[in-house]
Amino acid sequence: MAALIRLSSRPSALSAAASRVAARCFASASASQATPTSSSAPLFAFSASSGSAGRKDAEHRNVQWVFLGCPGVGKGTYASRLSVLLGVPHIATGDLVREELSSSGPLSLQLKEIVNQGKLVSDEIIISLLSKRLEAGEAKGESGFILDGFPRTTKQAEILEGVMDIDLVVNLKLREDVLLEKCLGRRICSQCGKNFNVASINVKGENGKPGISMDPLPPPPHCMTKLITRADDTEEVVKERLRIYYEKSQPVEDFYRSQGKLLEFDLPGGIPESWPKLLEALNLDDYEEKQSAAA
Ligand SMILES: [Zn+2]
Repeated sequence: MAALIRLSSRPSALSAAASRVAARCFASASASQATPTSSSAPLFAFSASSGSAGRKDAEHRNVQWVFLGCPGVGKGTYASRLSVLLGVPHIATGDLVREELSSSGPLSLQLKEIVNQGKLVSDEIIISLLSKRLEAGEAKGESGFILDGFPRTTKQAEILEGVMDIDLVVNLKLREDVLLEKCLGRRICSQCGKNFNVASINVKGENGKPGISMDPLPPPPHCMTKLITRADDTEEVVKERLRIYYEKSQPVEDFYRSQGKLLEFDLPGGIPESWPKLLEALNLDDYEEKQSAAA
């Protein structure tokens, strides 16, 4: 077990969080302490906080992670891959909003009005949707989650903290020049709606930093002639989107950093280079082997 938890180079609070995570991943009885149950009343009724059972004993649930990262970094892709690996749902709040919009759920009319007026969906609505999703998941026997797109503000982070124990917050980062190139290379097939990327990135290393190369994700021949660029994927708009993101995300990152829960991860390239490195950073690099050995 000890070999699975390599924490010497990390700050101690993160080490504690990471060791709880690692211990949980391997359903170990050692090297972990149950998190005390909070007695503070939640602002919103998450099912996990209601009733005497309260928060699930950290030993008996799966990971409860948050993924942060700017638009275009590939956050959804990595969160989704990890959710499959760990057997927890990948819950993207953007999807929850879209699902509710296309349903006849209680919030759909309200949401349609907000979206039609170009307004931002309020914390209350997002939290209500998230709460509903987590309750439905718990009823189906889900244990744990990877959140994507939430929290976006410190207020949301505080609300979440009041009702759930977040184990780890992974902040995916990519050099801005690479990110810009990647966003400008995005194409959508106007016929089938699939996303592709025509950018072939090859940035040289400098000042001791390694270079980054990322292969394009070219479309199949039948989509090739139908590719379109999103109107808001221009250099000016992408740069402005990133500026707004950095400004808003900074306080959320600081919030989790001060709790020792933030894991900063610089993506070294595309998925082939980044995925194994990410697993390593999460102490999951031999997770698949361990799982099949235990089966
Ligand atoms: Zn197509």
